[in-house]
Amino acid sequence: MFLLFSRINGKRFCEYERSNMMHYVRTENKRLFFIFLIPMLIHITYAVSFADTDFQQWLLEFSKTAQRQGISAQTWDEAFVRVKSPDKRVLKKANYQPEFKTEIWDYLDARVNEIAVLQGLRMSVKYAPVLETVEERFGVSKNIILAIWSMESAYGAVLKNKKRLHYVPLALATLAYGDKKRQKFAKTQLIAALKILQSGDIDYENMVGSWAGAMGHTQFIPTSYLLYGIDFDNDGRRDIWRSVPDALATAANLLHKNGWQSGKTWGYEVDLPAGGAQYEGMTKTLAEWENLGFSRIQSKQFPRKTDRAECVLLAGSEGPAYLMLRNFFVLKKYNNANAYALAVGLLADSFAGHIGPQHAWPRPPGALSGDEKFTLQRLLKKHGFYHGEIDGNLGSKSREAVRRFQAAYGLEADGVPDKSILTLLRKL
Ligand code: CA
Repeated sequence: MFLLFSRINGKRFCEYERSNMMHYVRTENKRLFFIFLIPMLIHITYAVSFADTDFQQWLLEFSKTAQRQGISAQTWDEAFVRVKSPDKRVLKKANYQPEFKTEIWDYLDARVNEIAVLQGLRMSVKYAPVLETVEERFGVSKNIILAIWSMESAYGAVLKNKKRLHYVPLALATLAYGDKKRQKFAKTQLIAALKILQSGDIDYENMVGSWAGAMGHTQFIPTSYLLYGIDFDNDGRRDIWRSVPDALATAANLLHKNGWQSGKTWGYEVDLPAGGAQYEGMTKTLAEWENLGFSRIQSKQFPRKTDRAECVLLAGSEGPAYLMLRNFFVLKKYNNANAYALAVGLLADSFAGHIGPQHAWPRPPGALSGDEKFTLQRLLKKHGFYHGEIDGNLGSKSREAVRRFQAAYGLEADGVPDKSILTLLRKL
């Protein structure tokens, strides 16, 4: 384009070479110079500096696939008009390797705790009519819906965290282009994301989500959104980003369509008989489990002994043992992890005033309990070692704070947040 311009204006450029630049601008082509040449030079500089040509080529190729799957050229152009390069933050997050393993008790402490429960109870009051209508229409307990909302976005709080949010079409294109492990997933999700944009349910600027494309209050990936999205507030859009009723109804619809059994719970904690761990993973009726010596905790009765349940042990025979009903496995349709489904179930129970596991998790000697983790963070913050959230989740920031504390007091700075650190902090 620059060459073309030079040829067309060749005569004038010769003239320019012989004359003073400003004189030329003033006398020959002031208007053309400012309106056309300067923006073009800026564009060329920008394109050379920032555009990733391989990625642009990939987008061009994939646009043909998208069009074959019903995405209009207009939708594609509007989705990618401002996109120059992959979202590097997405690849960084996709390749993140945690520095320590999260045990089941740590996972639960970070999700089923006093903050999540109190906030949930507040939300259950604020959104009482919505939750009741959703429960009535989809037959899913409102406590389960609240628990999912807590787990997925901390009742919408994570949607305000700009660092966490990505423009979904770009995040998915980045994964499809640069992450071999997730290529197939990302391509499917990208097509689905473009279908959502094409439907007009959300505008381009607001189509944000996690690095892996999970969107809105209840963190739906695009294909799930297309299958289960509900416009519950009847404004003509399935808006899980800004409408709490739409988001909660969409979550309930997913569970309902995957076979949620109304009026039933998710599972029962049991006292494991001697040798009971050998039955892990087996499914039997509750009556059959009783015959094998399994009994519900606190001598409670199973309400329907013909229900079938699977023996699930999340920490071997030492931790709490569960007989899981159908609904536990429906929860796993949302996120296919036992730990996730158990956290949702325990949170829902907490909202209903039920107590948590009666058998303790096999925490190693010196490990902190859930409450002690909150105390540790509060004390580290009070003494200036920690500046993050008080959330009971001892991640890398909390461990870094422990290291600073240890270094300040001449201890080995291993960053392990255990009871000995808490004891020392309490003495300050
Ligand atoms: Ca709506």
